[in-house]
This record gives sequence, C-alpha cells and structure tokens, in this order.
Amino acid sequence: MSFQSLGLSEALLKAISKKGYNTPSPIQSKAIPPVLEGRDVLASAQTGTGKTAGFVLPMLQILSQKESLRNRPVRALILTPTRELAAQVFANVKEYGEFLDMRSAVIFGGVNQKSQVAKLREGVDVLVATPGRLIDLQNQGLLSLSKIDIFVLDEADRMLDMGFLRDIERIMKLIPSKRQNLMFSATFSKDIKKLAHGILNNPVQVEA
Ligand code: AMP
Repeated sequence: MSFQSLGLSEALLKAISKKGYNTPSPIQSKAIPPVLEGRDVLASAQTGTGKTAGFVLPMLQILSQKESLRNRPVRALILTPTRELAAQVFANVKEYGEFLDMRSAVIFGGVNQKSQVAKLREGVDVLVATPGRLIDLQNQGLLSLSKIDIFVLDEADRMLDMGFLRDIERIMKLIPSKRQNLMFSATFSKDIKKLAHGILNNPVQVEA
C-alpha cells in the first residue's frame, strides 16, 4: 500500500514525503479511502498509530477540492480533549497543509483569548479546539460554526472521561446537521457507542 494509491493529491503527497513517511500506517490505509468518499468513519485507534494523519490528510483534501467561501468561515472542526493534543493536531494540520491554500487555527483555554480571536477574525478553514474555549468564544459571538462541513471528534473516550459529554452535545447543536463526521477513540465503552450513535450517520468502522 502506498500513499499514492490512497488517492491523495500531489500537494499532500509532497507534505507527506517532507515528513519522511514512506508507507501509510494501518489506520491510515483503512480510514483515508472512506473519508475521501465522504463517508462518516468510526475509528478505533490509540495514540501512536498515526491516527492524526488518518483524519487530517483526507480532510484537507476534501476541503481543498471545494471552493473557499467568502470570509473563510470555519469549514472543518476538530475537537480534542486537551490543549496539548489540540496543539499537536494543529501542528499536523499545518505541516500536512503546507502546500495547500488552507488557513488553520487552534483555540484552547487557560490562556488569554485575544490572539486566538484575532486569528479567527482573519478567516480560518480548519479549527482545532478544546470544547470549553470553543463554547466560550461562540457564546461571545466571536465564532460562527454554521458552515462546518467536516466534524472530527478525536480521543472521544478521553473526552467522556474528562466530563465533556454536555459540552459535546451543546457543540453538536451549533453545527449544521448535514456534515461529514469522523470519530476516533482508543476504547469502545457503552457510553462511547451511544455517543457515536448520536453523532455519526451510517459510519464505516475501522480499526488500527
Ligand atoms: P499519531 O498516532 O497521529 O499521534 O502519530 C504518531 C507518530 O507517528 C507521529 O509522530 C507521526 O508523525 C508519525 N506518523 C504518522 N504517520 C506515519 C507514517 N505513515 N509513517 C511514519 N510515521 C508516521
């Protein structure tokens, strides 16, 4: 299996080769094709499996194939449980998107919101966020989520462990109901399955 055969664009292949990756990891081989087809995906994958590229690469490809909207409203939202993970995923979005015309930002709590808000004002295609700060900025009218095409819930099990269920439910009400959903989790408890059922639409299930 090669990255080329997964159907990724030249711009993404260039970024992948710059990262020094030779072959897709199992989760990447399994998740990327259905995401590119526009399907919802429920993936079972631990950190370290290459799961981040598994959703970031096809997400960037889908966004780059669609025309940018005026004012660049957020079109893809990636929710993560912690600011460390948010920062890490954001770094990946920037690296993989280096050869695409794509703007991205990261927002999380515990720091002043000023620079995050300034970034959002410039227009952002891909937003990586932790739930609390996202809701906070939305409540202040500083962020619109009405143009989201792709929604990613990363480390869903940790989200629930950290008590983010209510926040996730609130966020789901703020984004369009017609969208593509990707959910990644290391474990699959009853609660996770219930959450997946509420968010995903006829998902393809893949395992690392
Ligand atoms: P993740 O599970 O997304 O946190 O990724 C774990 C590590 O694997 C990160 O350091 C990635 O840069 C690296 N990685 C992701 N995909 C590949 C790949 N196809 N080949 C080699 N390394 C990779």
